[in-house]
Amino acid sequence: MIPGTSNSKKPEPADWRRLWRDAVTDPLELLDLLGLTDLAADLADAGLAAFPLRVPRGYVAKMRRGDRHDPLLRQVLPLNAEDRPVPGFNLDAVGDAAAKAGDGVLHKYQGRALLIATGSCAIHCRYCFRRHFPYADETAAKDHWRPALSYLRDRTDIDEVLLSGGDPLSLSNAKLASLYEALAELPSIRRIRIHTRLPIVLPERIDSGLLQLFRNSPKTQVMVIHANHAQELDAPVGQALSDLRQAGVQLLNQSVLLRGVNDRLESLSELSERLIELGVLPYYLHLLDRVAGTAHFEVDATEAAALERGLRNSLPGYLVPKFVREIAGEPAKTPAFQP
Ligand SMILES: *Cc1c(COP(=O)(O)O)cnc(C)c1O
Ligand code: SF4
Repeated sequence: MIPGTSNSKKPEPADWRRLWRDAVTDPLELLDLLGLTDLAADLADAGLAAFPLRVPRGYVAKMRRGDRHDPLLRQVLPLNAEDRPVPGFNLDAVGDAAAKAGDGVLHKYQGRALLIATGSCAIHCRYCFRRHFPYADETAAKDHWRPALSYLRDRTDIDEVLLSGGDPLSLSNAKLASLYEALAELPSIRRIRIHTRLPIVLPERIDSGLLQLFRNSPKTQVMVIHANHAQELDAPVGQALSDLRQAGVQLLNQSVLLRGVNDRLESLSELSERLIELGVLPYYLHLLDRVAGTAHFEVDATEAAALERGLRNSLPGYLVPKFVREIAGEPAKTPAFQP
């Protein structure tokens, strides 16, 4: 059904760890690669020091040269707008500090708990709501998952484990395998859900060892990928997603509504249409969390509501993501607009 899914004699993809290390981390190099060195004067200062640039070369290759408004570039370019404090944009906008249940576990919602599997990401997204979170000391992997697993063992009302971060697929297959083995022994856990941006920004990460891990797991596998624009969804990404589906992983997508990236009706429609071609259902479209340094990405609620109406009136219902926002202390993601 999907072109190019033949598994036979497929060469192993390039080693993802090497590609990870080879990411662009110097903003001037990024601008040079794109023929945009005149933007050097617009770069962030404090914002860049607090949250450095990081972008895999394969992702840079998907950007249009010479286009300062490229929707992929916008997601990673540290602009000096980040350095300007804006009232209402704070450090812990989503209440993570309050929801910590134990080392590396966030338990906010009924029936599901989130493990901060790691603090690292292959890409640094400038709009990220966790850009200020002190991950280094908060990952569930640091103590070989022990406190996190014992929390899950005690709380038999939790039937879904979310692996998040950071990006959980930044862990090695061996580390993930040890976690999966431990989870396999917890009968109350029915589903493992991975939230990751790696299939989009470093599709080489979906290697045969990882696929084997998913194939062998007795739990239901869900993966929420994170694409914001159809231009991110090229052939290597399509192949990685097809491999995941063949390994029995149910694929969903979440996006963030971002000024200058996907704030037009055509961009959001095209994203949904591309996703379903690749076997991925749109799940959430998050309104921006009001985190310090991200104000220039905000799309106001009136405009967001118009976009949502536009999508509902032009696409099949299953291609319209739920527009939500995260409000600290609420029992679930909150619908962005009341009907
Ligand atoms: C977003 C989130 C979830 C998942 O919510 P769903 O509505 O099930 O996708 C779970 N736990 C935490 C802490 C979250 O922030
Ligand atoms: S957590 Fe996700 S959104 Fe944030 S920087 Fe990492 S990959 Fe980007």
